[in-house]
Amino acid sequence: MRSVRPAAPQLAGMEPYDPKYLPADAFLSANENPRDVEDALRSEVMRALKRTALNRYPDPLANDLRDLIAEANGLDRDQVLIGNGGDELLFDLALAWGGPGRTFLNLPPTFSVYEANARLTNTAVAEVARRADFSIDEEAVLARVAEGDIDFTIITSPNNPTGLRAPEDFVERLLDATDALVMVDEAYFEFSRRTVRPLLDAHPNLIILRTFSKAFSLAGVRVGYVMGHADVIRELVKVRQPYSVDALSQAVARVVFENRASFEPAIQAIIDERGRLADALRHIPGVTSFPSDANYLLFRLDGADAAWAYLYERGILVRDFSHAPLLEGCLRVSVGTPEQNDAFLAALRSFVAERQAR
Ligand SMILES: *Cc1c(COP(=O)(O)O)cnc(C)c1O
Repeated sequence: MRSVRPAAPQLAGMEPYDPKYLPADAFLSANENPRDVEDALRSEVMRALKRTALNRYPDPLANDLRDLIAEANGLDRDQVLIGNGGDELLFDLALAWGGPGRTFLNLPPTFSVYEANARLTNTAVAEVARRADFSIDEEAVLARVAEGDIDFTIITSPNNPTGLRAPEDFVERLLDATDALVMVDEAYFEFSRRTVRPLLDAHPNLIILRTFSKAFSLAGVRVGYVMGHADVIRELVKVRQPYSVDALSQAVARVVFENRASFEPAIQAIIDERGRLADALRHIPGVTSFPSDANYLLFRLDGADAAWAYLYERGILVRDFSHAPLLEGCLRVSVGTPEQNDAFLAALRSFVAERQAR
């Protein structure tokens, strides 16, 4: 036959995920750590890789890494699950708690992957939009879950791309108000220095997502993890791909996690630079920047798409949300090295000055 029948109907009208990575001198679009794993630690990583069998299947559940993470967080092995990046675990969540006849509560604007996963799994999406300052409309969320049909929700803390963390007292009220599974996505918690881990023991409906991709400079390696109650983890284990976390990634993540304290100065440097960048943005006329607890800043200005192109022509890649729903006119810049941040600020200042001169 010279034809193929259509793919599953939920794919119609969906666009494949495209982060629009382009070559640039200053790559400030993906919220990565601007510094790669430092040389001494990298040598240790290489030694670990050398010892890793390539002909054998990896440990399906990455139990050695699980044990390290569990111990560091005062948990048991069966309360931790490792994924091929946090993204895999987000998909597993949608598979295990979503599906036909089930409903996911989204709080846009937020990480677009959540809604895409819901659509892929034929999960209905309910929404409570954030306020104009991107804070969570807490009472509206509590009222929405009180309707009783929400199966799971994701609270991103700090929220990507807007930057603020979710107040812990709100997360606790939400956990008390619903039996929906509440994921708190802490992909950037190392930069906010706040976690809802203390709420885990008393709340069986809480699950926390973390990643090695941001603070720990391993976006290229693809390792993330969740922490939750053993019963919840068990359901996620049912839907996951058995060998999704390869042996090399497990080995790299073990070495990095054991040496996580060595990342502290770089994390503090990013937090300090975030303050400097936020301050400088506030002083550029016509630019509104939003407060951030993460390693990026969202800002709004007239001619945002022209500004994006102007920056890109000068070797600086930022993330363009200027046409995204609820984020009209917004760009997001990741906190880079001081030199990258200076180059970004200089280019943005000259864009604004040239526009005003016209
Ligand atoms: C980056 C990110 C993740 C996970 O990224 P991985 O690289 O797949 O681990 C999860 N949630 C949010 C909000 C993120 O920004």
